[in-house]
Amino acid sequence: MKPFFANEQGYFGEYGGAFIPEILYKCVEELKNSYHSIMDNKDFKKEYESLLKDYVGRPSSLYHAKRLSKKYGCKIYLKREDLNHTGAHKINNTVGQVLLAKHMGKTRIIAETGAGQHGVATATVCALMNIKCIVYMGKTDVERQRVNVEKMKMLGAEVRPVTSGNMTLKDATNDAIRDWCSNPKDTYYVIGSTVGPHPYPTMVAELQSVISKEIKEQLLEKESRENPDYIIACVGGGSNAGGSIYHFLDNEKVKLILCEAGGKGINSGFSAATIQLGKKGIIHGSKTLVMQNEDGQIQEPYSISAGLDYPGIGPIYPYLKKRNRAKFLAINDDEAMESALELTRLEGIIPAIESAHALASLKKIEFNKKDIVVVTISGRGDKDMDTFLNYFESHEML
Ligand SMILES: *Cc1c(COP(=O)(O)O)cnc(C)c1O
Repeated sequence: MKPFFANEQGYFGEYGGAFIPEILYKCVEELKNSYHSIMDNKDFKKEYESLLKDYVGRPSSLYHAKRLSKKYGCKIYLKREDLNHTGAHKINNTVGQVLLAKHMGKTRIIAETGAGQHGVATATVCALMNIKCIVYMGKTDVERQRVNVEKMKMLGAEVRPVTSGNMTLKDATNDAIRDWCSNPKDTYYVIGSTVGPHPYPTMVAELQSVISKEIKEQLLEKESRENPDYIIACVGGGSNAGGSIYHFLDNEKVKLILCEAGGKGINSGFSAATIQLGKKGIIHGSKTLVMQNEDGQIQEPYSISAGLDYPGIGPIYPYLKKRNRAKFLAINDDEAMESALELTRLEGIIPAIESAHALASLKKIEFNKKDIVVVTISGRGDKDMDTFLNYFESHEML
């Protein structure tokens, strides 16, 4: 099963496709038809691989977490994407796409960002490659994510606050697409997850697949076997999860556990668990499950982690769910926060709140002692310190 290779029209089963304004058709076709040949080019490969190694800091370590393993009665390895430059997996994708844009002769980069992490990862690579960068961000998010806005400005990017709708991610996305429509010739749109019109979901998964490629090599070295029993990752749009499962999809013996943000509980009205709550719809140019109300209006998702509150999900995930290839869990705020503190105290690693959703699933699975379990730590918790401290102090956990 190689489902990241969608069919020619970009469908994973009934999900995916490219629902875009007519004016972008040529742009998206150009991207679809050229990205493989550019990325397979020797010069591109050499530059990309050397940036991943020396700039991002790859391979990221696969760390045997002994105290965590003891607690859960299995052998747990952490795939440490938190150690990457800029503190998360997102840079794997932005390095690849901005480099691709340069090779395509584009002179202007646009991106949208919610929590600001993708904006920072894009602005970082644009500074490195000396290319103009404009980041669309809902005004509400600009106010909530001050530090990331300052980082983007310091990196030389222009942050454009979006004041339509709820002034959050989906509104920023609409404005980015509008910009792209006005500047289709010179502009490249860097999408931050396995979402958006075909070929983005496949392309982003391919760029992130370095994660599972390394897991295989590292497990072979440490355990004399390439395949773990479990891969566990959190899912917002699905890029760290996609990269983590990519090379294991065709091996049904590797169990895939994907963790969405349950928020305050899936029945509370405050949740971001799109697989559990979403209905078929179109978002961001793709047919997938979408959090929406009875009128088909997008419902603002909620999660304590800013990186998981996306109202859609990459189109491959409803397909994996339907095929029963992956198990999806909704992890609530409280469970994630408890697991973040647990990892911090057991291993001296402060994870991103997003990544803590993956860790919380350890409490919900019955492992065998011999099981080898890989949990992807998608990012580090530095950005979340205010949220952590407020939460732990008000819950008397510190
Ligand atoms: C953005 C982000 C996520 C969620 O995005 P995916 O595309 O689902 O991976 C998860 N973890 C961290 C640390 C992030 O910054």
